[in-house]
Amino acid sequence: MGEVMGRIATDDSGAREVTGRTRRLATAGLVGVVLLVSGFAQWAAHATAHSAQRAISTNRLSDGYARAARAVAAEESLERKYRLEPGPEVRARYDAAAAELLAALEQVTRDGSPADQAAVARVRTEHGGYLNAIAAMFAAVDRADTATALQIDDRDVDPSFGLIERLVEGEAERHHQQALDALAELGMLETFISWATPATLLAGMLLVALFSSVLRRVQRQLNQQRERAVHSSLHDELTGLPNRSLLTDRFEQALRTGRRRRTAAGLLLLDLDRFKEVNETFGHQHGDDLLQQIGPRLSAALRETDTIGRLGGDEFAILLPDVEDAGGAELVAERLRASLTEPFVIAGVELNVEASIGVAVSGIHGTDAMALMQRAEIAMYLAKKHSVGVCSYSADLDRGSPGGLALLGQLRRGLDRDELVLHYQPKINLRSGRVCGVEALVRWQHPERGLIPPDQFIPLAEHTGLIKPLTHSVLDTALAQVRSWAAIGLELPVAVNLSARNLVDEHLYDEVAELLAKHGVPAHLLELEVTETTIMTEPVRAARLLTRLHGLGVRIAIDDFGAGYTSLAQLRALPVTDLKVDRSFVMTMDRDPGNALIVHSVVELGHNLGLTAIAEGVETQQSMSALADYGCDSAQGYRISRPLPADAFLEWHARWDPSNVAEAVTAEAGG
Ligand code: C2E
Ligand code: MG
Ligand code: MG
Repeated sequence: MGEVMGRIATDDSGAREVTGRTRRLATAGLVGVVLLVSGFAQWAAHATAHSAQRAISTNRLSDGYARAARAVAAEESLERKYRLEPGPEVRARYDAAAAELLAALEQVTRDGSPADQAAVARVRTEHGGYLNAIAAMFAAVDRADTATALQIDDRDVDPSFGLIERLVEGEAERHHQQALDALAELGMLETFISWATPATLLAGMLLVALFSSVLRRVQRQLNQQRERAVHSSLHDELTGLPNRSLLTDRFEQALRTGRRRRTAAGLLLLDLDRFKEVNETFGHQHGDDLLQQIGPRLSAALRETDTIGRLGGDEFAILLPDVEDAGGAELVAERLRASLTEPFVIAGVELNVEASIGVAVSGIHGTDAMALMQRAEIAMYLAKKHSVGVCSYSADLDRGSPGGLALLGQLRRGLDRDELVLHYQPKINLRSGRVCGVEALVRWQHPERGLIPPDQFIPLAEHTGLIKPLTHSVLDTALAQVRSWAAIGLELPVAVNLSARNLVDEHLYDEVAELLAKHGVPAHLLELEVTETTIMTEPVRAARLLTRLHGLGVRIAIDDFGAGYTSLAQLRALPVTDLKVDRSFVMTMDRDPGNALIVHSVVELGHNLGLTAIAEGVETQQSMSALADYGCDSAQGYRISRPLPADAFLEWHARWDPSNVAEAVTAEAGG
């Protein structure tokens, strides 16, 4: 298992590394695309501006040269014209043309490169000489000295002009070509940018979309990884059930809600019995198979609001966020155990699985989650140790009262070996003195310790599932006894005591009906005794069950009445037939007038409610007379007889003289 966990952890961190790298790459890609697109825009703007600037300056220079070339051409034609028709007007126009050439050259010097400036310098120098020659030639023309004029023209003007013309026109031609080239370059650049811009934008958008989708996918994967990490930190790897920390969290939440709403939360701790053997016999793989099948089985027996968690190994915890009391939680625990009875199929083999369950309920066994979990665990440990199935926490058990713990372990065996015996204590009618019934009181005939009174083992049985088989065995024995007395002509009703857990046991009704039928005992010969506290642990369910039992014809007595807190309204709502006055009042009524008053009041209360009043703990003649005086219907106590084994009871019964009581009562009343 550890190896598997390790592998999962490594796989997971590997995947995380890959997604992390992909995310970094995609982010870098996005930034790259944005830089690329904005870089392109920057370049396009700059290149266009630069190219346009170059075209403009090249053109301006070309213009300058063209202007110079035009001025040179004007100079030539005006020079000829002057020779044909000299005069101040042509001379002025010629001077203007020469000035125009100098202005054009000035422009070229301003706009041009050093090479242009050098070319202009050469033209200027040549032009200077040329102008001198022109001046001399025009002077000869003015003198009408044609021969000299022609001579100057041939010797000085013509060659000089020819050079100037070649220089200027050559430069003008060259710069004109350059201007055309610059314009063509600008045009090409504009064409390139006009298609490259949308193409770049489109490519950029596609790349952005691509990287964004990669980023989104990576983000999704990261989210999933995070969710998986959160889930696996709160759930058990093998079964997928909540783990201890999630369960504790939910438990604390349930406790808080419970405090607000004044409800109780229950915790069941379930541990499979002999799971180690399953592992050893079938191997761990199949052991794991079994563990995986447990959760679904259990959840089928639970409410949706309940939570099952696995605490580790074969230990499960069940949180019941809202239970009525310990009885309710125990009932759920029994249901869970029942849900496991159907065999599990492991490696093709049918396997019977049992579990021990410890129960702790908030408000009864503790208040905080930590304490309750510990207590449920102690209870589970006891349930397992003593093979009792379900065990509720109790401080007595926890303290490990040395006798108690050892006894609990032996009680199950004692039950199986029929070590429980019943003693019968007679009840007599206070008017006739006749025996009107018996109460069956259980004892444990322990092989080493001898006869153990019920106070020492009934509470142990009540904390565990053992009270159910115990009650069943008592009912069985008591009804068999009634049957055998009937066979010798003795018709005596028997009273059997019930515990709180019996009153939440859905099977009790069927068990009672079956046992009555089995022994052929009419229902009115069975009386069930329940104490006030027994009913109050779960009043609604108890009342429902008692009503059904009463419907069978069984009598219902409230035992130890006066010691608890039953309200009269509750008493009226229950299908009760008898009220047994608590023996603590009866035993002391001789010396304590207050208690005598209580006994009297309870008898009257019972009568007013239409119930039969029974006094138990009648130890003296005096109290028996007083009870008869109060109109109490029957009495039970050491004054009449201690609880006796069945055969001793028969002997006692044979010797019992009803008139004793009647006489004693009359005598006492008369005296
Ligand atoms: P309980 O039902 O109130 O039974 C009457 C108890 O009073 C019996 O004690 C009986 O021996 C005792 N008693 C009767 N007359 C006198 C008397 O004159 N003086 C004194 N001091 N005591 C008297 P026991 O047999 O020890 O039973 C104790 C309790 O154990 C019972 O109280 C009952 O609550 C429980 N119990 C006994 N048997 C069963 C059983 O089969 N199932 C269940 N659930 N509880 C049982
Ligand atoms: Mg009783
Ligand atoms: Mg009693």
